[in-house]
Amino acid sequence: MTDTELSTGARLVRRGDDDYEALRRAAVWNERKPERCPDLIVLARDEGDVVAAVRYAAEHELHIGIRSGGHSWVGNGVRDGGMLLDLSALQGIGVDAAAARASVGPAAKGPAIYEAVSAHGLFFPTGHAPTVGIGGFIIGGGYGWNSRYLGPACLSIEAVDVVLADGTLVHADDATHPDLMWAVRGAGPGFFGVVTRLHLRLYPHPTRILRTVHAYPLELRDEVLAFAYDALEHLPREVEISAKVGHTPGSEDFLVSVTATAFCTAETADEPLAYLETAPFRDRAVRGVVAEPTTMPQLYGFADALNPEGLRWSLDGMWLDGTSSEVVALAREVNDTIPPGRNFVLWMVWGGYPERENACWSAQAAVYLSPNAGWTDPADDLRMENWTNLPLERIQAHSRGIQFSDNNIADRWDHGLRPEQAARLERVRAKYDPRGRFNTYMRPEESTTAFARARR
Ligand SMILES: Cc1cc2nc3c(=O)[nH]c(=O)nc-3n(C[C@H](O)[C@H](O)[C@H](O)COP(=O)(O)OP(=O)(O)OC[C@H]3O[C@@H](n4cnc5c(N)ncnc54)[C@H](O)[C@@H]3O)c2cc1C
Repeated sequence: MTDTELSTGARLVRRGDDDYEALRRAAVWNERKPERCPDLIVLARDEGDVVAAVRYAAEHELHIGIRSGGHSWVGNGVRDGGMLLDLSALQGIGVDAAAARASVGPAAKGPAIYEAVSAHGLFFPTGHAPTVGIGGFIIGGGYGWNSRYLGPACLSIEAVDVVLADGTLVHADDATHPDLMWAVRGAGPGFFGVVTRLHLRLYPHPTRILRTVHAYPLELRDEVLAFAYDALEHLPREVEISAKVGHTPGSEDFLVSVTATAFCTAETADEPLAYLETAPFRDRAVRGVVAEPTTMPQLYGFADALNPEGLRWSLDGMWLDGTSSEVVALAREVNDTIPPGRNFVLWMVWGGYPERENACWSAQAAVYLSPNAGWTDPADDLRMENWTNLPLERIQAHSRGIQFSDNNIADRWDHGLRPEQAARLERVRAKYDPRGRFNTYMRPEESTTAFARARR
């Protein structure tokens, strides 16, 4: 072993080495890179390298941050000091079609998983954007394609291969490690091990996928949002629905739109999206697609167009409950103040999914309100971050929590788990990681955003 390799031969790059800065930056998809610097980066090639890295960290008293797909908006894996364990090479996918099961490396992306499983007529609720890694996505809950019907993706984890804080690799399932399995299903950046492989339950591929999109002028904003929110009770679970205010790819003007995607089964009614055509303002749509057959590659493409690579991104989000008029009123400030450019407010209309005893995943409500800002000029950082964060801060009293997938808790603390689940997670973590080897949720003092700096 040299000081540039672990015992297994895995590459170890120290701060100051030639490649260090390029690797540190590449660990975060967002162009708004954190100004945090790990002491060293380990490029793991397989689970043996992960075991060696965790043992090395234990010997040298290093904290560990984890990167799989690198899509944490805030670069959660990149922390000051310690080790950044880069799992981006762990992308292998195996499918056992007869058992409807896949085993997937944590850095695998949605389109690769889809291609592997759909070849056997199977499906998994991967993240909407094609570039998101399955590791962070699923441990944080995982609101994927058809998750209203199939559940958040974390509920489809049947087992995990995980390297624990003492460097042992275990194959964990509900029978052997119930606490660990409970935690991996939703703890997000609070999980206390390195998942090297996910064993996932698969589902039959939809018989058809249909998509309706209506875009309206902005003056109809609140009516359209209320309609989309209330539409849930008229739509079957296999229809996922969202609304959006602001930037729309292909349009110069800000618009308000409703998008619904039906993942049909043999039992689905012939016209599962028909309710959307009953909107009282339907004839005022400036663009419309009605129950058009679509494919997963097309759906990934639509999501990618909304959050493309290469921009500085800031996001926040909040679960909200109430009547449609209450929720629309709560969202008024964030909707009224969208800065010009590629910025938008996404309304993920969810409606709730039954929680499970074997999962800590627990923050949910009727709708997830999420301002997204994407820009290029660093001089705009504070203005954009103020827009994504402040209007939500002002309605904090109404919050039902956040999705860990937004990772914005350093700048605006909110619950990603129900408080009793969060308390149990701390107890389970203390058992599995008594010395705090793995970094957990980011603290406000670690944030390097312009928003955080302006507040110090
Ligand atoms: C463009 C875009 C679109 C998105 N769309 C969706 C969406 O549709 N639905 C949704 O739910 N989320 C979505 N997200 C959020 C995304 O799920 C989270 O940011 C998630 O953390 C990304 O996973 P990753 O592996 O790529 O991230 P990483 O940055 O690699 O990981 C983030 C954190 O997750 C934990 N983690 C990751 N891998 C492991 C592992 N192997 N073992 C233990 N802990 C691990 C670590 O704490 C790590 O720091 C989106 C994000 C982006 C940027």
